[in-house]
Amino acid sequence: MTPLPSVTLIATGGTIAGAAASDTDTTTYTAGALPVATLLEAVPQLASIATLQVEQPFSIDSKDADERCWLTLRRRAAEALARQETDGLVILHGTDTLEETAYFLARTLDPCGKAVVLTGAMRPATALSADGPMNLLDAVSVAADPGACGKGVLVCFDRKLYDARSLRKRHTSALDAFDGGECGPCGHLAPLRFERCSEPARPLAAVPDDASGLPRVEVLYVAAGSRPDLLTCAIQAGARGLVLALPGNGSLPDVWHPAVRAATASGVPVVRASRCASGRVSPHPVDARTGTRPCGACSPAAARIDLMLELLAASGPSASGQTP
Ligand code: ASP
Repeated sequence: MTPLPSVTLIATGGTIAGAAASDTDTTTYTAGALPVATLLEAVPQLASIATLQVEQPFSIDSKDADERCWLTLRRRAAEALARQETDGLVILHGTDTLEETAYFLARTLDPCGKAVVLTGAMRPATALSADGPMNLLDAVSVAADPGACGKGVLVCFDRKLYDARSLRKRHTSALDAFDGGECGPCGHLAPLRFERCSEPARPLAAVPDDASGLPRVEVLYVAAGSRPDLLTCAIQAGARGLVLALPGNGSLPDVWHPAVRAATASGVPVVRASRCASGRVSPHPVDARTGTRPCGACSPAAARIDLMLELLAASGPSASGQTP
């Protein structure tokens, strides 16, 4: 008999491991309350799809995830992928900051030609209609499928597949909470099919071993009437780069021009992103006037990670402990 594929499952908490006091409560539960063993018990079908190696480095609500979590996860993922016997990797993660973790991994993790799939859930494991079990089963099925190899970091959710580089959380509570921005899904389940090839990946960025080595970059949301002293405060607090989530096509209000110009002239890069849920931010003459640059198709959260990695690279190979 052909042996089943070997899939490493890294659980990190989230709603998929959430527990509430009642089976109809889908909003005031505790995320990351249940151990991964309990989640696996709910999906006995996994036993016929893959042999699982399970790890749980931490169990949190992903609203509390930070750069330390990204680096821990990246290290554990890299170790699992480097093992010859590993065919694929699944990461269970809270949905609130799933797009950031997925994007960070897409920029820094070498999948070694193997499948890497993130998933989570919108309803806690204790809900009558929990979506976690199906998402888990689907994610493991994708990770065990040779067709997922070489596709980069994927996110499997509500029977759809997304490229981690274009993922956005679009809804606060719907089961299909994600979309792929301009790109849409890159595949579907039932049956599994991969539909769209993404652009070639950028070279992998090096990262430090310690989160303190990642430069601080903040995202500022610019509403009608928001004051530019926010930007000055962020720099005074230690931000080395800023992403502005601006109205429309990254439109920088006139009142912000002097503060932005001063920031960029002092060597603090400022990226124009958009508050809109999809669409690119295009180059504009304001960039020449203020020293800004557009983020292209990135969400503000992804643009922040890009800028952190860029500043890190610019700090040179002396940044200790970097691994590609
Ligand atoms: N707050 C939860 C988390 O991100 C939400 C979820 O998983 O859907 O962990």
